[in-house]
Amino acid sequence: MQTPCSFRLGHLELMIFSDGYQMLAPAHPMIGPYEQPDYIQQALRAQELPTHALRLDLNILLIRHSDQLILIDAGLGQEDATGGLLPASLSAAGIPATAITDVVLTHAHTDHTGGLLHPDGSPVFPNARIHLSDAEYNHWMQGPPDFSASPLDAATGLKKALTTRIPEILSAIRPQLRLADPQATLCDCIRLIPAPGHTTGHSMVEIFSGEETLLHSADLLHTAVLLQHPEWGMFYDMDFGQAALTRKKVLQEEAKKTRMTMTYHLPWPGLGRIKQRNAGFEWEPVIPSGK
Ligand SMILES: [Zn+2]
Repeated sequence: MQTPCSFRLGHLELMIFSDGYQMLAPAHPMIGPYEQPDYIQQALRAQELPTHALRLDLNILLIRHSDQLILIDAGLGQEDATGGLLPASLSAAGIPATAITDVVLTHAHTDHTGGLLHPDGSPVFPNARIHLSDAEYNHWMQGPPDFSASPLDAATGLKKALTTRIPEILSAIRPQLRLADPQATLCDCIRLIPAPGHTTGHSMVEIFSGEETLLHSADLLHTAVLLQHPEWGMFYDMDFGQAALTRKKVLQEEAKKTRMTMTYHLPWPGLGRIKQRNAGFEWEPVIPSGK
């Protein structure tokens, strides 16, 4: 079992766990669905990434803030055999699932929400409040969402899977859900930052303690290749054009700062700095030096 990556942000104690990973195959069209496959495969090979499938790590941030234990997203859980490591990893670190007080969801995709439920539908974190922006909740719960701006529109099976399973999960966790304003401050140490495109209510999360901040960019980047070409996008982007605009804007803003950012899907623990490189950007991984 992977030992969590631990570090501090001001008064906060942070740990990054892994829930496992998810493979999306083939890598094209999962990345750059509207680009030539050769072009995408060449870019993946240049970064020594596999081309047969896109490997998405599942990096779960835990924040300890006085007596609160807050998770940012909950992993894939038992939705696929490659996920579901989070509860055992927490337990190995001395944190029972019953001790989690809050889960902040960046969006409702099942690789972020699947870990909230056991296969029998009972809650994995029974004592937690689960926070989700009301925009994201409504996006999935007010009838089937509009897929017309997404590559998913032509993928009938994937659309059906999303529009079936996500409302099921959101309904099952409803007693624990606290719908939040899309720009809410939560738990005195977290600000939701709307980052629309991947889903309508997709949120990044800024963790703060005094003047210190860490940006958790959620699903802004599914692979490092998107730093060089933010416009290539991802198959699951619900509003493909908006997702590309959001990605580019956030990369531009972060490249001007020196702070560390966290990503949900880049190789564990998903921490790094965003730098300008030629017309695009690059990812400089950071491994914190401990507590
Ligand atoms: Zn995701």
